[in-house]
Amino acid sequence: MTSMGPLALLIALAAAITATTGVLTFRRRRETPAALPLTVALASVTVWGVSVVLQNAALPASWLDATVFPQFLGVSGAVLSFRLFVDAVSGRVLRPRRVLAFSVEPALLLLALALDPQLHWFHATVDIGGDPARRVVTAGPLFWAHTAYSYLVVLTAASTIWQLRRSTRGLLRRQATTMLVAIAAPFACNLTVIAPRVALPVDITPLAFTVTGVLFAYAVLQQDLLRLVPVARSLVVETVTDAVFVVDERGRLVDLNPAGHAQLRPDAGPRDTVVGRPFADLVDAAVAGAVDAGDGETVVQPARGGFLDVRTRWIRDDRGDPLGRVVVARDVTERYEAAQALERANDRLRAQVATIERLRADLVEEASRDPLTGLRNRRRFVDDLAARLTTAAEVGRPLSLVLLDVDHFKAINDTHGHAVGDDVLVEVARVLGAHARPEDVVRYGGEEFVVLLPHLDTDAARARAEELRTACAGVRVGVESLRITISAGVATAPAHGTTPDELLLAADRALYGAKGGGRDRVVLAD
Ligand code: GH3
Ligand code: MG
Ligand code: MG
Repeated sequence: MTSMGPLALLIALAAAITATTGVLTFRRRRETPAALPLTVALASVTVWGVSVVLQNAALPASWLDATVFPQFLGVSGAVLSFRLFVDAVSGRVLRPRRVLAFSVEPALLLLALALDPQLHWFHATVDIGGDPARRVVTAGPLFWAHTAYSYLVVLTAASTIWQLRRSTRGLLRRQATTMLVAIAAPFACNLTVIAPRVALPVDITPLAFTVTGVLFAYAVLQQDLLRLVPVARSLVVETVTDAVFVVDERGRLVDLNPAGHAQLRPDAGPRDTVVGRPFADLVDAAVAGAVDAGDGETVVQPARGGFLDVRTRWIRDDRGDPLGRVVVARDVTERYEAAQALERANDRLRAQVATIERLRADLVEEASRDPLTGLRNRRRFVDDLAARLTTAAEVGRPLSLVLLDVDHFKAINDTHGHAVGDDVLVEVARVLGAHARPEDVVRYGGEEFVVLLPHLDTDAARARAEELRTACAGVRVGVESLRITISAGVATAPAHGTTPDELLLAADRALYGAKGGGRDRVVLAD
């Protein structure tokens, strides 16, 4: 060992450090999936470092040649497992296929090294005078290929960390920064080895990887984040009030939280016994149905009552193949019942508004009808008449009206009583209604009626008024078969007026004329 230079001594020290760190990392392997690849990486760097140290020791030449294998095994192992470590840190699931793919290069490398004494494709070693201190090593094409490959792998690892750093913040981000610095070290250092101008007598790259390994270990184990985050995450799942289930692709329950256990059927059994059983057997049929429906959110009513909001999400691997489902069920009974109560209150209110509206319409209808005869009364008649006169004027057609009045009605009341008088009015109303459309007959006052005659000119209206008078003369009331007569005045728009007032006044004057002329007759307006 006396011939070892200070650099070799440093590398020996570094190997001791990586070995120790490797042991520490290995002990923490259960805390994070990143620990195991890091352990392998640290072991590889240790082997590498020891090989370099041995190459600088005064050893027989045949021994020296043999150190090339562990040296490059260490190099490849370090590169490969640092890459896998970065995968684990970034949350990538380690698959055998990926490990296998990364193992191809080391295998080829070992083969090349084994054949190198004959082929000299990797490197040629020239001992000058058998003195290892004056040994000259030249790089062959395979050495460069191996170096380029290793750089590429480490570069992809650096880019993964870079992305991780960009997508995180706070402590995780600081951790990623530490790892970026860590991965930069071998780059800086390895350049001194492969760049011919600054070639050192000893390969100091293991030193750089020592820095990398220790910093990585620091990031993972001391900064504690990889440990903290999964623990915090699982604590969240354990304590949330939402039921959380993980169901595998065959429909078996894989995991659940306490809230999830509370949502299972009462006969499901303790929490540790339900895992592995078919999910559909453990939960309410409505929940199972919602989960079977696939990705999405739906509200179901379990048999035991209440409402559950069930969200289902498929978990898929990198290739998109389903691994299972995550189901989150939330009790939304209160919210739903409140919403339903509100809906019912709204329904009641709507029904009440409808009733009020109907009553109001009834009231309007009632107010515009005469209770004795059931005919329309004067209340809205004048408004309607105005509208019908306007329409008649627009289409250029006449509109006539007849004003009828029972003759000597006061005397009927006086002689036969008010009730008989009422009967007379009911009978007259019936007769008029039978001769015209209901909306055209109006009880205008005590024993006065108006009959509208749309489209009829004066002559036609007079003929119709005569019909009405004759029909009323046919009325018989009471046991005494009381007979009545009526007088009528006829007016036509536009001849005798164009407004309701003008027309009614004209008809009233004509009626007055009929009364004066001896009653029981029809008189036309002037
Ligand atoms: P005329 O031939 O000139 O029309 O004589 P009349 O007696 O019919 O005239 P008047 O207008 O003086 O009398 C109308 C009477 O009708 C007065 C009123 O007591 C009576 N009357 C008004 N409304 C009603 C009612 O609803 N029922 C009954 N039975 N009588 C009513
Ligand atoms: Mg009268
Ligand atoms: Mg009268």
